[in-house]
Amino acid sequence: MKISEPNPNLEHIEALRKQFVSDFDRDTLEDLTLEQYAMKTGDKKNFCYRLEREQIGMGDIRNATAMKFGIWVRKTTGKYDFTNRYGETADEAFSVIRDELCKLVDAGADDDFTAIRNNMIAPIVRFKILSMYYPDRFLTIHSERHLSYFCEKAGIAFSESDDELVLQRKLIFWKEAKAEIRDYSLLEYVAYLYDHFGVPPTVDKGLAKKKSKLSQLKKDLKDFDKQHPKKKLTEVEVVQRSSLVSSIVKERAAGVCQLCNKPAPFYNKSGEAYLECHHVVWIAKGGADEVNNAVALCPNCHRKMHILDDSEDVEKLKEVAKLL
Ligand SMILES: [Zn+2]
Ligand SMILES: [Zn+2]
Repeated sequence: MKISEPNPNLEHIEALRKQFVSDFDRDTLEDLTLEQYAMKTGDKKNFCYRLEREQIGMGDIRNATAMKFGIWVRKTTGKYDFTNRYGETADEAFSVIRDELCKLVDAGADDDFTAIRNNMIAPIVRFKILSMYYPDRFLTIHSERHLSYFCEKAGIAFSESDDELVLQRKLIFWKEAKAEIRDYSLLEYVAYLYDHFGVPPTVDKGLAKKKSKLSQLKKDLKDFDKQHPKKKLTEVEVVQRSSLVSSIVKERAAGVCQLCNKPAPFYNKSGEAYLECHHVVWIAKGGADEVNNAVALCPNCHRKMHILDDSEDVEKLKEVAKLL
């Protein structure tokens, strides 16, 4: 994107942003209904839809699941689903979310970093909202990796403990000091940063990538457990969690069946070795859906376990599940 020429696209983005903020001004947010926040299928006027789909020019947040909104409509049932850290029922959850939304907009107005940091809205949504409502003070970049990359490129001193808010402010301060870009709006400035410094490179390659994928998956599971008290998991969350456990188990098996020790019989369409996740103590018999009770097996061995469940095999797999 060439910033030196007037960009009609930026004008369009700014017009959309203004419309959004006026449609959902502070007073409106106070009385927002669940349907206005996340309307059931087909509606394109609700807050979440517009924030994610209409306002792409203000930072694209489509690649994180609907969970980021705290409450959403599940496609298969057409009913509301919600993360239970906000409450026990959909209405209860929404009333907390609405309250947090108002608090966030107030915190942004006051530039209250502590209140912004303590806000319950998911970071990806939080930063998008701040840049929508306060486009002169908050950048549309919410990735800490991108922000620190730009600081590094610009020669701005920063430390590990600087979070997104601090890094953003450092970058804005740097802009103000540079005559040739001082007059840019922050939206133009973001375009300038990517144009000028490029997109930060992804570092992981080969073995490093394999290792980091496993540790990333483990971290994802940890984060998930932190956010979702185990006793209160909804049906959807149980499935989400279970798929994380299964991914970890397959990743650590590295393409080899953990019972017969032979390579997986084939690769799936994404090029991954095909193995199946098996719970050593079956879930049906009270076994835990945890990494230390699960192994990755070839389809033959998996079938064998479910038909024979031979005690010698079980003991072997128990050790394997524990070790890794
Ligand atoms: Zn096998
Ligand atoms: Zn099984």
